[in-house]
Amino acid sequence: PRDPQPGITTDGVFWGYKRRCILDRLRLDCKVAYVTGGGQGIGRAFVHALGEAGAKVAIIDIALEKAQAVAKELEVNGIKSVAMAADVSKAEDVKRIVDSIVANWGRIDIACNNAGINMNSASEDTTLEEWDKTFNVSLRGLFMCCRIMLSQGYGKIINTASMASLIVPHPQKQLAYNTSKAGVVKLTQTPGPEWIDRGVRVSCISPGIVDTPLIHTDALKPLVQRWSNNIPAGRLARVTDLQAAVVYLASEVSDYMTGHNLVI
Ligand code: NAD
Repeated sequence: PRDPQPGITTDGVFWGYKRRCILDRLRLDCKVAYVTGGGQGIGRAFVHALGEAGAKVAIIDIALEKAQAVAKELEVNGIKSVAMAADVSKAEDVKRIVDSIVANWGRIDIACNNAGINMNSASEDTTLEEWDKTFNVSLRGLFMCCRIMLSQGYGKIINTASMASLIVPHPQKQLAYNTSKAGVVKLTQTPGPEWIDRGVRVSCISPGIVDTPLIHTDALKPLVQRWSNNIPAGRLARVTDLQAAVVYLASEVSDYMTGHNLVI
């Protein structure tokens, strides 16, 4: 990542020979990616986007059948992928999938730590069990890929945070969720600058309210309607609204960035 580009001029702008088209520079050919929570919702959209851009993708989900269904969708389009069952809150599962991806594909270039769960409890009713479960699902992903990326000297880590890391819509009862997502932002901002000279970049994406099964719970349904009235675009986000962001952050065009929280 630190190699000077051939043809770079003294003003540092690369307009020289062999210039590659911006769309080529967004390609992810030969890259190996994984997406946790890839069997549904935002993760599924990330899997498709990375695959369409050229990456091989490991689709990781606690529900293997969901991951397999997504792998089939990719196969139809000739995109190489593998479905893997894992609970990202369990250290032994995490080690098994990292070892397996590296054994089969040799490396991990792009890690989307996207799996997340939602607990709805009033702050005073939040149990330690809910707290631990939420934090373990949200915050462990970084550690599952950082060692292999640092040893390779290259990697893009893209964590899924949430706008709830920044603002809390009212009324809402998600103490553990919101606090864990604020943790995801810090888990991005802290190692990002620390690792950039070792070739590893860390970013996160903070979506607003996205139309996925996560928000279609009895507890959230009435609230979502209220919150929707304050969305500038006048509608909930669709998973396809987030796809370009993950390709941008995964590709070389964003190599100068790290520690960024991209709010969508
Ligand atoms: P979703 O519930 O539709 O999908 C989550 C996927 O993760 C499911 O396939 C589920 O089986 C899997 N999963 C759950 N726990 C897991 C675990 N322990 N290990 C492995 N896989 C697990 O959710 P979504 O809306 O697609 O959300 C994806 C991410 O985006 C989450 O981190 C969520 O917090 C975040 N997010 C969602 C919204 C929204 O409005 N939907 C907004 C902001 C952020």
